[in-house]
This record gives sequence, C-alpha cells and structure tokens, in this order.
Amino acid sequence: MHTRRPYHVEEAEKYCLEDDLVNLEVLDEDAIIRQLQKRYVDLLIYTYVGDILIALNPFQNLSIYSPQFSRLYHGVKRASNPPHIFASADAAYQCMVTFSKDQCIVISGESGSGKTESAHLIVQHLTFSGKANNQTLREKILQVNSLVEAFGNACTAINDNSSRFGKYLEMMFTPTGAVMGARISEYLLEKSRVIKQAVYIADDAGRVMHDITSKESYRRQFEAIQHCFRIIGFTDKEVHSVYRILAGILNIGNIEFAAISSQHQTDKSEVPNVEALENAASVLCISPEELQEALTSHCVVTRGETIIRANTVDRAADVRDAMSKALYGRLFSWIVNRINTLLQPDKNICSAADGMNVGILDIFGFENFRRNSFEQLCINVANEQIQYYFNQHVFALEQMEYQNEGVDAAPVEYEDNRPLLDMFLQKPLGLLALLDEESRFPQATDQTLVDKFEDNLRCKYFWRPRGVELRFGIQHYAGKVSYDASGVLEKNRDTLPADVIVVLRTSENKLLQQLFSIPLTKTGNLAQTRARVTAASRSLPPHFSAGRAKVDTLEVIRHPEETTNMKRQTVASYFRYSLMDLLSKMVVGQPHFVRCIKPNDDREALKFSQERVLAQLRYTGILETVRIRQQGYSHRILFEEFVKRYYYLAFRAHQIPVASKESCVAILEKSRLDHWVLGKTKVFLKYYHVEQLNLLLREVL
Ligand code: ADP
Ligand code: MG
Repeated sequence: MHTRRPYHVEEAEKYCLEDDLVNLEVLDEDAIIRQLQKRYVDLLIYTYVGDILIALNPFQNLSIYSPQFSRLYHGVKRASNPPHIFASADAAYQCMVTFSKDQCIVISGESGSGKTESAHLIVQHLTFSGKANNQTLREKILQVNSLVEAFGNACTAINDNSSRFGKYLEMMFTPTGAVMGARISEYLLEKSRVIKQAVYIADDAGRVMHDITSKESYRRQFEAIQHCFRIIGFTDKEVHSVYRILAGILNIGNIEFAAISSQHQTDKSEVPNVEALENAASVLCISPEELQEALTSHCVVTRGETIIRANTVDRAADVRDAMSKALYGRLFSWIVNRINTLLQPDKNICSAADGMNVGILDIFGFENFRRNSFEQLCINVANEQIQYYFNQHVFALEQMEYQNEGVDAAPVEYEDNRPLLDMFLQKPLGLLALLDEESRFPQATDQTLVDKFEDNLRCKYFWRPRGVELRFGIQHYAGKVSYDASGVLEKNRDTLPADVIVVLRTSENKLLQQLFSIPLTKTGNLAQTRARVTAASRSLPPHFSAGRAKVDTLEVIRHPEETTNMKRQTVASYFRYSLMDLLSKMVVGQPHFVRCIKPNDDREALKFSQERVLAQLRYTGILETVRIRQQGYSHRILFEEFVKRYYYLAFRAHQIPVASKESCVAILEKSRLDHWVLGKTKVFLKYYHVEQLNLLLREVL
C-alpha cells in the first residue's frame, strides 16, 4: 500500500508534510513551494488545496494505480488516505450517487503536465467504483481513450503524445451508480498537422499507415489500435475502411504540382509524380483522372454557365491540403460518433434520462511555442474560458453570496480574466468576430487582418510589436504570447472546394461516401444545447448567466459546401459554438477541479524547478485558492435543500421538518460540526463539512 518513503529526519523536523495546503500555518508562496517540493521528492505527487487536487507530473511510473488502490480509495473518508487522483474521482462518484446529480471533473494544466494521464486514471477508478456487472462494457470504456488518442494525438516539441483535441468524456451511471455507458465529445481537433509535418515530428495517424505500408517498427502499436477497435465493437469492414482513408491521406500528402506553360496559359498545373496520385485514388476508390481534375482545376458558374478554370500550382497545393484536412477531420468525427453509438446505454437496463453522469474534461493546455499560429490562439482562448470557469466557481460566486446573504468574510483578491475573454468573444468587435469579418472579404490579407486587430482592440491585453510584420501579442492569464498571423485567414476559412466533395462522393468506399454526403453536426443539436444553457443558467446567479449570454450568441453549425447560399461556417465560429456547447455541459454538473503541474521542462523524474512551478501556481491562482479555501465557505446550500438532504441526521425518517433556519441549526448541531455560518437563505459550509455530513448520512441510511 501507499507507504511514505523515508526521508531525512532533520529535514522532517524542519518542515512537516501536509496533505492539504490549507492546513499550512504560514501561508505564502515560499511555504507552498517548499511543501510541494518536499512532497515531490518523496514521490507524493498529489496535494490538496481544500477540495481541489494538485497533481505534479512524476515523469516516471508509480505503483499506486492498481485495483488495490482503487479499493483503498473507494467510498471512504478523504482524510483516511494520502491525496490521490482516485480520491478526487471517488468524491465525484460519491456526490453523484448521494445527490443524484451530474458531476464534472475539470482537469487543467500546461501541455505535458499530465492531464490526459489523469483523465485515464479517473476513468479507471470510475469503472472500478461503478461496478458494472458487464465486464465487456468496462473493457470498452477503458479502450476509448486509447483509441481516440491514437488518432488525435501527436508528438510536439513539448509532449511526445500531446492531445491535439479537447475531449469531454461522460461516463453514464444508473441511479444506483452502476456504469451503463459512455459518451465522448471532441473539441477543435487540430487538423493542420496532417499537412504540416514540420512542426510535429510524427503523428500517430501517420504511424498507423506507415505500418500498413510495411514498416515493421510500428507493428506493435498498430496491433494495439487494432485491439481497441475490436474491443469497442467496430466491424472489420469499418476498420478496413478507416485504414484505407488514412492511407489516402498519406498518399495525398505526397502529391506534387508543377507549372505547365502553354502559349495561352502559363499558370496551369499538373501532377509530375503520377504514382502518388494513382495510389491515393486507388486506396480511396476514386478515379485518378477525376481526382487530378479536382485538384488542378475548379468550376466557376457565371451567368448560368459553368466554366472550368485551371488552378495555379499554389492553389492546387492548397486544395490538396484542404482535402487531407477534411478527410482527417471527418474521419475523426466519425470514429468519435461511432464510439458513442457503440457505448450508449442499453435501453433495457436504464434510459439515459434516468441516469446520471460524471463528465471528465481533458482539454489541451495553454501553449506558447516559438511560433504560435491560429491553432495556439484557439487553444489559449479555450484555456482562458476554463480559467474563467474556475475563477467563477472558486472565487466570484462565493464572494457574491457573502454579500447577498449578509455573511461576514474577508474578500480574497484574484485575477479576473473576464475582460480578456470579452476581448476575444465579444460581438461585433471581439478578436474572433473581427477575424470572421475579415475572412469574408476575398481581398483581405493577413496584413489587413492584423491592422484590423490593431485598430479595434485597444486594450492592455493586445499589442503589436514594432518592426515585425504580421505579428501580434496577447497578454493571456498564463503569460504573454506572440502570434504569427500568416496563414490565419486561410486557416479560418477552411474552405473545401465543391469539386473535391463531388469526387469523394463517387467513392466506392461506403464510409468515405458517407463522410462527405451527410452534414456532420459534430457536437449535436444546437436547439438542445441552447435549452441546456438556458436551463443551466436559471440555476446560476445572474452574474454567471450574464457571462453565459455572451457566449450564447453563437451561430448555427453548417458545413460550407452544404450551404452555398448561407453565410460560410468558419473555424472561429465553429470554435465559439463548441466552447458554448462544452460550457453548457459543464454548468449543469457540480464541478471538481484537478490542477496538473509540470515540475520541469526536461521530463525528468524527481526534478523540481521552483521557478517553473511557481509560475504555474501564480497564473492559476493557487495561492489565492488556498486562502479562500482556508477562510471561505465553499458550499452554500439553501435551507430547503439542506433540510431535504440531511434531515435524517436529526429527525426521524417519516417526520420531514419544515425547511427553516431552525431545522438547519438542529441538524448542524446534532452533527457536531463547527465553523459553519448561516446566511439569510443558505447554510454556509467549509469544504470539509460536506464530506463529513455525507459520511454521517451514509451511516444512518
Ligand atoms: P498533457 O495531457 O497535460 O499534455 P500527458 O497526460 O500527456 O500531459 O502527460 C505527459 C507525459 O507525462 C505522459 O506521457 C507520461 O509519460 C507522463 N505522466 C503524466 N502523468 C503521469 C503519472 N501520473 N504517472 C506517470 N507518468 C505520468
Ligand atoms: Mg493531453
């Protein structure tokens, strides 16, 4: 079991190890850093800040994740064991079962800090807790992450296995807490990496394919993916189609273009390496001639007449890249949708509406590379939003309630990133809206885009470095990032010429046909999302729903080629929609936070860079979090709700008391809690009270 590793006695005397930073007597950055460092070199990578878990990446395998550990952490008081990711997973599970309420675990942190690993471990523990009678279902759920990551991850400069998409995995449970299914939503897959290998050294989609095209070295990885597909329930035929499409993507990447000059036209292009073209056409089951046509020419309709125009070399290359990206993006969405179908709850066991779920958010962390483009911009905006959500829950809502309820508590200062978020998301003058506007002008260039930003975004968060063309800087909550605007307009437009779609629809590969015939609404039905947002914001204080309303003014998702007459769907507008969809899921659940921290940039075990850790603690507001958890009341429950939940603790089962202040006091006194406070309509509790109450409740029930 989890035995603490011995450490030098004299040091132990100097600093004692504290599982929860809230218990530290001296509370400053220095004390917190020392504490985390002590724990880290002792391989105690987890530490609490009240109900929030800090997880330091160990950069080595620890033997603390076996089923014995899940057993140890299941259904017990948190204080009975050292901090652990399983304890956080279990807390979410217990809250869900006790209150029949959806839960949401938000994992955040920089790239490479251990978010995806943590998400895996949470799923692992939840499949343990939600004792499914159905062994196969459990196995399937455990494979989901591996499968989507095989297709959605890549090797970056920072993380060899970096998630290039965000995912929200919902594990669904019956009212008694047995796992019954799972659902996964993907957010903003970075498609550009299939065409730009320069940035990332390798990618798994590529690896799989190399394998098929005979490189032995990836055999084992390939077999692992094959295994995932099979366990989850994909048919051999489907898997085969998937591989063919991947092979198509790789071969398309090899197609080159050269200019042919004739007397009349000098800007025509042709494919000099016919073999690549033929290979691509062959694996995609389309005609090579038609593929070449679609790449090297395009149709224009003028005055009712269709004219065929030649593509220049550059344009042909753009079409080729757009085709690869579309194939990759749609294939990925299809895999995700298929997984969802295969893992949906069996209606004979329980209808999804009666069930409850724990959602786990693993979204790409804040990124600041040497060159940052549109992808980094979107990733970082998503992180701003998640940080805002954290701030709202941990600071803003709490302090607002003290005021409303007349409770006396010292306010804790924190960095509010709302103005920055507004700068991005506001309409019509937010950065994303400006980008969309500029994307609609055919004459616009990346230069006019940056000029437009500069003219409209007059605030301290935006600046334009002198002497560097096409650059702009943003002061994010997590630090300054300098963005390169070249190519941003085109990435945002993400156009796929109709000619390409027409050819792909002729494919004999059924899956490929399907990918390009039905409009893919990736994240589901907008009406449903809106309904969810509205319902959720009703249960939130006005300030919060006001914030939501801003995000709520988003556009409907349509795929450009299906809607030639409608306003074109850009990546930025789709991104806004996805963010809204994600938030709408998150706000209905009770949140639990896991903060991942990267102790060093060299991926080395036991190495603790005080400077790097401090930076992360600062921008995520950990110090302030410790303060507010120490001084504040993180749970505020309406008298009525409190009495309904806990009356068993002081009254008899059949004698439901009136939902009054007095009944609450009776329950609180009977439970022997201290340091609680009563407001006008709510009971104010410390973060540890709820656990104590729940445990008492379980004893009497
Ligand atoms: P992120 O998703 O935040 O970018 P990952 O979860 O992919 O980061 O973690 C990066 C790497 O760090 C992993 O590939 C793994 O090698 C290591 N790592 C992270 N968390 C753990 C852990 N709990 N135990 C062992 N290794 C870990
Ligand atoms: Mg990841």
